[in-house]
Amino acid sequence: VAQTPAPVERPLNLVLLTRVERYTDERARLQGSRAAHLIDVMGCEVGRILRVGVVDGPMGEGRVVLVDRHQRIVEIEYQLNQPTPERPRFDLLLAMPRPKVLARILEHVTTLGVGQIVLTRSWRVDKSYFQTALLDPEGHTPHLWAGLEQACDTRLPTVHVFPRFKPLVEDDLDEILGPGTRLVAHPSATTRAASAFTGTGRAAIAIGPERGWTDYEVDALGACGFTPVSLGPRILRVETACTVALAQLAFATA
Ligand code: SAM
Repeated sequence: VAQTPAPVERPLNLVLLTRVERYTDERARLQGSRAAHLIDVMGCEVGRILRVGVVDGPMGEGRVVLVDRHQRIVEIEYQLNQPTPERPRFDLLLAMPRPKVLARILEHVTTLGVGQIVLTRSWRVDKSYFQTALLDPEGHTPHLWAGLEQACDTRLPTVHVFPRFKPLVEDDLDEILGPGTRLVAHPSATTRAASAFTGTGRAAIAIGPERGWTDYEVDALGACGFTPVSLGPRILRVETACTVALAQLAFATA
């Protein structure tokens, strides 16, 4: 039975507008829970200036022009005068974590910047984790949105779900990732992640499950071009490892 994910808390660094909400090129109407959050949690009043953006599109500035507390409606007049941000250059291959942990990871890695998130089974992943509603777009998109709104970005990561590791690695992963550096985070590796990435082009990093990748999985990823790398001498929980891995790649790029 699919579990319903908890509601997502949203920051207000950026308000992402959907096509439906933008009822003209200059005005958007937010209703229901989106408006309620702006009114009740963020205390939005008429005149409030907000940064706005369109999913996978440009960003700009908006001004709240109507707040209807009773009917839960907020209207924003906006201008989109900033270009669409670049798609983040890093991709994440992730052995499916516990659903609660996945929800946090999706938000945090989106905040840090990922182009694609590939979720897969691995030997040490509990099969039941794949029953979560988070694997459906309706389940995971709110978490990605929260990450984008936190980071002031509009580029929605693409989420791929592969409940079987072998066919993913042997048949699909190469095409999904395309050219670029490929790393698999493995605590016993001797090469550090930051020194295995030159900082140019795209990079993908694979993070294992809480009980680690098996030797077979590290070898199969190796055959697909992934170099085993260390994130440092401390063994990190999966969600920390995701954050550290993306931060180390970003640091190599800086
Ligand atoms: N005992 C497990 C092992 O040795 O693989 C620990 C797994 S760790 C909790 C979960 C995942 O996070 C690992 O599979 C790896 O991808 C990543 N990870 C955590 N700490 C790491 C480190 N210091 N270096 C490289 N990868 C790390």
